[in-house]
Amino acid sequence: MALLLAAVALAVAAVPEGLPTVVTLALAVGVQRMVKGHVLVRRMQAVETLGAATVICTDKTGTLTLGVMEVREVWPPEAAHRVLEVAAACCDAELPVQGPGAGDPTELALLAAARARGVERADVERERPRVSEQPFDSDRRRMSVLRADGVLYVKGALEALLPLCWQVPPGVTEALASLAGRALRVLAVAEGRGPDERDLTLVGLVGLADPPRPEAVEAVRAAREAGVRTVMITGDHPATALAIAKELGLLREGESPEGLVHARATAEQKLQIVRGWKARGEVVAMTGDGVNDAPALREAHIGIAMGRTGAEVTREASDLILTDDNFASIVAAVREGRGIYENIRKTLVYLLAGNGGELVLMLCASLLGLPLPLLPLHLLWVNLVTDGLPALALVMDPVPPDVMRRPPRRPDEPMLGAREWGAVLATGLLDACVTLGTFLWSMERMPLEEARTLTFTVLVSCQVLRAFAARSGGLLHWEVGSFNNRPLLAVAAVTLALQVALPEVPLLAAFFSLVPLDAAHVALALGLGLIPVSVLELRKLVLRGVGRAMATPNG
Ligand code: ADP
Ligand code: MG
Repeated sequence: MALLLAAVALAVAAVPEGLPTVVTLALAVGVQRMVKGHVLVRRMQAVETLGAATVICTDKTGTLTLGVMEVREVWPPEAAHRVLEVAAACCDAELPVQGPGAGDPTELALLAAARARGVERADVERERPRVSEQPFDSDRRRMSVLRADGVLYVKGALEALLPLCWQVPPGVTEALASLAGRALRVLAVAEGRGPDERDLTLVGLVGLADPPRPEAVEAVRAAREAGVRTVMITGDHPATALAIAKELGLLREGESPEGLVHARATAEQKLQIVRGWKARGEVVAMTGDGVNDAPALREAHIGIAMGRTGAEVTREASDLILTDDNFASIVAAVREGRGIYENIRKTLVYLLAGNGGELVLMLCASLLGLPLPLLPLHLLWVNLVTDGLPALALVMDPVPPDVMRRPPRRPDEPMLGAREWGAVLATGLLDACVTLGTFLWSMERMPLEEARTLTFTVLVSCQVLRAFAARSGGLLHWEVGSFNNRPLLAVAAVTLALQVALPEVPLLAAFFSLVPLDAAHVALALGLGLIPVSVLELRKLVLRGVGRAMATPNG
């Protein structure tokens, strides 16, 4: 019977019962934090994968840029009126006289510029109703509308229109290079007769400004510092793409755009881009809005759909949805992902160290031929309540400030490496020394039940207080704000109070086989509980001192 009890106690000591709850809660907290950061999580696991991302492939227009466009230049200047008239006749967007417009931002900009010249799309629709339309599509890169006057109004990328034109104003290629070189998005405008997109006359070009989002510049920099590459994908002209990439700091002076900037990209190419990075062992996130982007999102480790402009099919293929279509939110989510991983890791170490300590205590006691220092019920209580509650608080820790100053973790890296197991072992031994010492000391001085009660209280206070040292920075890392985890403070206070009260309540004391302790012993137990946390914090202080000394040689 005693043997069975010992075996059960060992088994309970060895298993961290709180673990599954902790991991689930960590992910749930991550999901909640990400929602506040404009990222909806469709697949929980993606939270953690995102933390390991090494490459973010992102659409340019509307994600890296504001997506609020403005016509800056029309070429040739003398034909500007006609260029905008044709453009306005080939639009689906609606720009009311007052209030925000609805539709493609590119078209809204065209309509606004046309309005400035006295051309209203509403008038065009009334005077020359549309007969048929071939809609815009990012792979075809053009759109055409046939109207009642028999004229086909066409707009699109210049390369997409040139093969269809028989008449082209001289100097158009130079004009395109000049506009695109100034980071403008360029649209060509053409007209023809009859329903077919052929024998067109090129009327001119429109250059639209779509400035980078100010926060995207910072986000690209932050991603770079965190060892995450930003890859820009756009349907725009290469010169436009390069100019914007430079403005964003995505390409620095002397850096090759090879692999980092993809212009005139089709949905099929997006898929190839994901595959290429994956083949090099990278962890790839990919954004997409169009219906055709779904395969690329599915292929990526993390598929991110646009919440505002995205198609339903694309959303269904995604792991995350970006509700503000903003690149900076992706980088913020990577930070959250890394934080969650860190939190799970340190909570795991905290829990396993607790179990390690219990195991060593029980094993040593049995090797020394002592009675069981703790009953299975005590150990279960510790693992579920006094260890479990601080663990829940730990896993909700704020993201450590330096997570984005480190390279991404390697995808094949185990969550618990040599460093973590070392910490588990050292901390476990520390707990065991204090509790075994207590048991040995008290066995000499008091009856077994009381000795157990004292040892139990010491173990609990060791583990609860040790939770503060388990935080990323720990107590001595003031930058984290040592006491900014309010749940942990509350949990620690409640747990310790509960522990002290347990032997005082007759029913509970009987259930747990405890006897009341006198005040001096309670104080002793709490004091002994400070030992592991103090040792761990002192160790950090020393290591920091050593780190500083190594960082400043000769002084
Ligand atoms: P992005 O991937 O950057 O969003 P798009 O695929 O939307 O790029 O656009 C690619 C090119 O297609 C643009 O450079 C422009 O020349 C042309 N284009 C964009 N929007 C329209 C539109 N609404 N109608 C016709 N052509 C367009
Ligand atoms: Mg677009």
